[in-house]
Amino acid sequence: MRESAEALRLALPLMTRNSIPPTPENYAIWFHYVIGDRAKLNEQIDQMLERNQQFTTEVNEQLYRRFISRCDMEQAEKVRDSVASALIEASAALKQTGSEADQFRRFLGSFDQSFDSADSMNDIYGLLNTVLEETQNMQTSMERLQQEFEEKSHDMEQLREELNQVRKQASTDALTGLLNRAAFFDLLERTDEGSDPLTKPYCLVMIDIDHFKRVNDTFGHLVGDKVIRFVAESLRQSIKGKDAAARYGGEEYSVLLPDTALNNAITLFNRIREQIANTNLVRTGSRETLGQVTISAGVAQKRANESRMDLLARADRALYLSKKNGRNRVTGG
Ligand code: GH3
Ligand code: MG
Ligand code: MG
Repeated sequence: MRESAEALRLALPLMTRNSIPPTPENYAIWFHYVIGDRAKLNEQIDQMLERNQQFTTEVNEQLYRRFISRCDMEQAEKVRDSVASALIEASAALKQTGSEADQFRRFLGSFDQSFDSADSMNDIYGLLNTVLEETQNMQTSMERLQQEFEEKSHDMEQLREELNQVRKQASTDALTGLLNRAAFFDLLERTDEGSDPLTKPYCLVMIDIDHFKRVNDTFGHLVGDKVIRFVAESLRQSIKGKDAAARYGGEEYSVLLPDTALNNAITLFNRIREQIANTNLVRTGSRETLGQVTISAGVAQKRANESRMDLLARADRALYLSKKNGRNRVTGG
């Protein structure tokens, strides 16, 4: 039964390739050609294919008369069974698709009965032909749907990608790749909402490069920019997990440390401060040293009933104290 169903599938492309109209008679010829149960038929067709001969209406009729019309009932039953099983397979495969497919499934179902009562080869081939035509229509519309669907999901994917890109750009500082000031305030708000001053404290750190004007004045703005990037990179590499660093403005940064108590934040920033101070920055090319670059920081831990702006002001004041007391230091506020 499976072999016959397979033969049905193989016959059609051969017919299309040789421009043979899908009439019941022609279908019968090519069905038998594929299953190879009539050696003389195959011999003749192979010869014609070899010589590239046309399958004209006359040739097709002649082939039918000579090799097919004497087909017996046993053969008819074999084909009928194979078609029935192909129909069952097809409708099972279509079960999970949309309403268009559903209609087609009902159509196939109605044919099941017609096949049961068809008993001549001609009846069967006639029915088969209608099924084939409908199947092809269905296939075409399914392919179109599929293609539309693929195009749409491709567009959607691209749109989502672009949106992510834009969103990322809008929250990123172009020079350093850190969060920008607006994104920092967004994150501060979210961190604040998810925190608890008693059980889940968080810290805010304000950082400023010491005597940065000197760097700009001595080496120019481009070198100044590189120093700003160097400090940004040092911050990025020293924080982890939910911690976030932002460029707050010119040569100022802010860092959020969720789930962190004041003393731990101060320890962390003293380490970062020392690491920056101990790095000998040199100019590319001339290898001339830029002299020691240092940062000052002010750390504040969020208090109960304190506004975010008050927290920020406390961190700022602590930074100011670091500057006032000699720079290159970290002060807790
Ligand atoms: P202090 O130790 O008190 O912080 O001294 P400072 O020299 O760093 O003082 P201040 O904060 O007033 O100066 C910051 C300078 O940073 C001023 C400005 O020209 C420069 N600056 C701001 N943004 C940029 C930038 O994007 N690139 C460069 N190269 N320089 C910048
Ligand atoms: Mg400054
Ligand atoms: Mg400064």
